[in-house]
Amino acid sequence: MFCRNCGTVLPENAGFCANCGSPVSKDTPAVHTGTPDMQQTAPAAGGLVGFSNRIHEPEIIAAAKAKRKSSAGCMWILVLVPLVGFLAAGLLIEEYPLNEAIIIGVALALLMLIINLIVLARSKKPMWEGAVIDKYNRKKRKYYRSGDGSSETYKDYTEYTTVIRTDSGSKKTIVERDSERDMYSYLAIGDHVRFHPAFGTYEKYDKSRDRHIYCNVCRAKNPITNERCVKCNNLLFK
Ligand SMILES: [Zn+2]
Ligand SMILES: [Zn+2]
Repeated sequence: MFCRNCGTVLPENAGFCANCGSPVSKDTPAVHTGTPDMQQTAPAAGGLVGFSNRIHEPEIIAAAKAKRKSSAGCMWILVLVPLVGFLAAGLLIEEYPLNEAIIIGVALALLMLIINLIVLARSKKPMWEGAVIDKYNRKKRKYYRSGDGSSETYKDYTEYTTVIRTDSGSKKTIVERDSERDMYSYLAIGDHVRFHPAFGTYEKYDKSRDRHIYCNVCRAKNPITNERCVKCNNLLFK
């Protein structure tokens, strides 16, 4: 017998999966055999159980490359804008001392460079898998001070957190806000997920009970029956 959620082999009388904690229903036979590890990506024939192997499709690899290229392009713009801007201000505005402009411009450019290098490094990390172990939401309040600091306003919002324990044992969280809680709504506790760092998106192992699927390239919501994303036309990961 196999866990319907994550594919772990279970003893015949098991009530819960030892790996992901999903309840085991006896009346629904396992539709797949094998564990959801990196090597075994092929979904069951005609089924929606299993991680998609579309990540290896040439057009998806090309989409990942294009995304990395465009974020590298944005990086140089964000680095150059403060540098050129402050230099121009120092040269053109008489009351603005040039050396001060250069220091601020260079400091901001370096800061942007560091931030962008971190983002870029993250997108190159290997993909990981794990199981959703917890979900919770919290009411929060963010305070804003007015420009002159004399008054304060606030905005209430709800923060939705989805906690994933990766197969290597570390903990990851997806933090979303208010109505933008796609993954919080999409993923249930016990769901096995794969993170695609090239796109910063999550894929569910068992999509067989879903009516929707999120595009792993652009995050758009699609009917599960679609082959391609309605928004970006890339192949959906199923
Ligand atoms: Zn399981
Ligand atoms: Zn898309």
